[in-house]
Amino acid sequence: MEDCHGRTINYLRLSVTDLCNLRCRYCMPAQGVYKKSHKDILKLEEIELLAQEFVALGIDKIRITGGEPLVRKGILTLIEKVASIDGLKDFSMTTNGTLLKKFAKDLKAAGLKRLNVSLDTLNDEKYSYITRGGSLKHVLEGIEEAQKAGLNPIKMNVVVIKNFNEDEIDNFINLTRYINMDIRFIELMSIGEAARWSNNRFLSNTKILDKRKELIKMAKEDPASPADYYKLPDGIGRIGLISPISCKFCQSCNRIRLTADGRLKHCLHSDDEINLKELLPNRKLVREVISNSILQKPFSHHLEEGKYIIRNMVQIGG
Ligand code: SAM
Ligand code: SF4
Repeated sequence: MEDCHGRTINYLRLSVTDLCNLRCRYCMPAQGVYKKSHKDILKLEEIELLAQEFVALGIDKIRITGGEPLVRKGILTLIEKVASIDGLKDFSMTTNGTLLKKFAKDLKAAGLKRLNVSLDTLNDEKYSYITRGGSLKHVLEGIEEAQKAGLNPIKMNVVVIKNFNEDEIDNFINLTRYINMDIRFIELMSIGEAARWSNNRFLSNTKILDKRKELIKMAKEDPASPADYYKLPDGIGRIGLISPISCKFCQSCNRIRLTADGRLKHCLHSDDEINLKELLPNRKLVREVISNSILQKPFSHHLEEGKYIIRNMVQIGG
């Protein structure tokens, strides 16, 4: 489907829960988010039906996200159902990785193709601090299990935060000399908890390029990818820079989002949303609403002008 700005929209970020087993400080309040009642969250069958509608409209790429998708009861059944939708070409998940040791093999068997794992630090204590109690060991074991299971490629996502992990950027970059993995630095966005943080926690990805002059820019394989990729001269892995603030990529955006409570969001950075759950008994209407919403997708966000988003990232699906 094309939107009114001529962009082809073929990618759905599908959030399956707004719950999480971690409490990352920039994403969630310490007490967690207000727990919605079961009836307000999409049932697994509803998610499946909506996924079918999206694919029928031209979505051929789905990423499962959350909250933490692996805490959703019945996640393997859902993965199996979505994976079998005719017309779906790419099927992936974003996870904090803590439960991968248990799930990796079954996710692969259910039809998931690849993974993004979020990991902001390689220091035990700092990991426990930023996630409010998470275990780095579990994530590293999870990544190992996912590699063994063949959930490749695995990409590592690192949110860059001033006075927290800026001193580890070089370390992450140097890792790509030894591991054939994409390590992607994401600029902190003023969404949810992070919107309440002062601007001086923000670090522009341009600083990475200023400091590491030896990085070689690579040709873009996927023009719609939010990441610009670089390599060390002797590197085997790639370094990705995802810079929604310092270098907006809205002009090539191909994404829409469905929240765990059934809201369609045509832009991550807009508070506009439509309740598809309510309309679901009428699939024809759902299809029409999705088409029209895609058509009206806004051209760009305005975060760099100080706009912030009310929902926490965990309630949208990153
Ligand atoms: N729980 C899973 C995980 O952590 O990978 C999936 C959901 S999480 C909301 C998706 C991604 O959003 C994570 O990589 C997280 O670091 C990122 N994220 C959350 N809040 C953010 C913010 N304010 N700015 C930038 N990235 C953010
Ligand atoms: Fe949970 Fe992911 Fe948010 Fe961290 S970033 S609190 S792991 S949803």
